[in-house]
Amino acid sequence: MTAFIEAASPHVMNTYGRVPIALSHGQGCRVWDVNGKQYLDALAGIAVNTLGHNHAKLVPALQDQIGKIIHSSNYYHVPGQEQLATRLVERSGMTNVFFCNSGLEANEAALKIARKYGVDKGIARPEIVVYEKAFHGRSIATMSATGNPKINTGFGPLVEGFIRVPMNDIEAIQKATEGNPNVVAVFFETIQGEGGINPMRIEYLQQLRKLCDERDWLMMIDEVQCGMGRTGKWFAHQWAGIVPDVMPLAKGLGSGVPIGAVVAGPKAANVLQPGNHGTTFGGNPLAMRAGVETIRIMEEDGLLHNATMVGLHLKTALQHALGSLPGVKEVRGQGLMLGVELAKPCGVLVGRAAEAGLLISVTADSVIRLVPPLILTIAEADEIVARLTPLVKALLAE
Ligand SMILES: *Cc1c(COP(=O)(O)O)cnc(C)c1O
Repeated sequence: MTAFIEAASPHVMNTYGRVPIALSHGQGCRVWDVNGKQYLDALAGIAVNTLGHNHAKLVPALQDQIGKIIHSSNYYHVPGQEQLATRLVERSGMTNVFFCNSGLEANEAALKIARKYGVDKGIARPEIVVYEKAFHGRSIATMSATGNPKINTGFGPLVEGFIRVPMNDIEAIQKATEGNPNVVAVFFETIQGEGGINPMRIEYLQQLRKLCDERDWLMMIDEVQCGMGRTGKWFAHQWAGIVPDVMPLAKGLGSGVPIGAVVAGPKAANVLQPGNHGTTFGGNPLAMRAGVETIRIMEEDGLLHNATMVGLHLKTALQHALGSLPGVKEVRGQGLMLGVELAKPCGVLVGRAAEAGLLISVTADSVIRLVPPLILTIAEADEIVARLTPLVKALLAE
């Protein structure tokens, strides 16, 4: 096994600290590595594999699509774009969608919409409010919006025009923007993912919506990780009963097929006009089919309800097993987007969990992140807790 790993990727650029395993195939929430070892998947390719692996309804639909057409071009109409856009519009209460291929691309499009929205109103140097600990991607602009020096150090000069504020503090954003006529948008994650599973409070979201309305700012919610049913509603902000003006999506939208989307409401939907923005791959027939089928199967199989119910069970079980240990700060999150914050760094748990047959990740140095497929069962949730608990206890005892 070691020999395989050392020889695995001598020509791949060394951009990731990888766990020394290579996955070969999966079924449901189980995956197997190239040596035949089985794992329970509580990571889902970082909140991507919504339907788990080798889903009996998704696979034949994608095979059918591949046999018809994979890519055409945005030179032409792509009927799948209208199909998926309709479904996203119906479920979000918004109006129009632009398709791309990833989270950062969706966020780039959102940032371009915000700037042009401002310029169209006569604001020559638009500014966008962003948050501490935010993660929006690794392009030059989205990295500049990201509130983590580990991600943007060494890549300056960063893009200007961002104002950074702390989460859940309405006075802080009022103060940071006071008398500034150049602000055009507020951009944030409903639950910060990479930042450590940090939720925005419901009343803060409602206060922000009000502030955006009063000041004519776009409310732009990055639901790339917390959207697409992960928290038990289609989009995590819906727990606060608000509707954003711009909403980037990606990760779980295609159940593993690369895809991104920017959903816009009436204030933002017509900002981009022909020639303003585009992408070669974005909105291709295969990705659109993956999105349409993911939504269909989620509804047929009741996966929003499953995320709520199994997520609550998992959170309660984690609280029970770990919550009262000294060294465990908090179990938090919603649906199947959960975090366990420890009082010490715990990155080492990723490899140890893999050895123990469990795939997890650690964000913000000390937060165990669980974002399993939305098909997770109660029994599998219990298995996650059973495998994780001894590893956490052992680490805390070190
Ligand atoms: C993962 C993520 C991104 C970036 O998505 P990529 O597809 O990796 O570019 C952006 N925003 C949030 C909230 C994310 O979790």
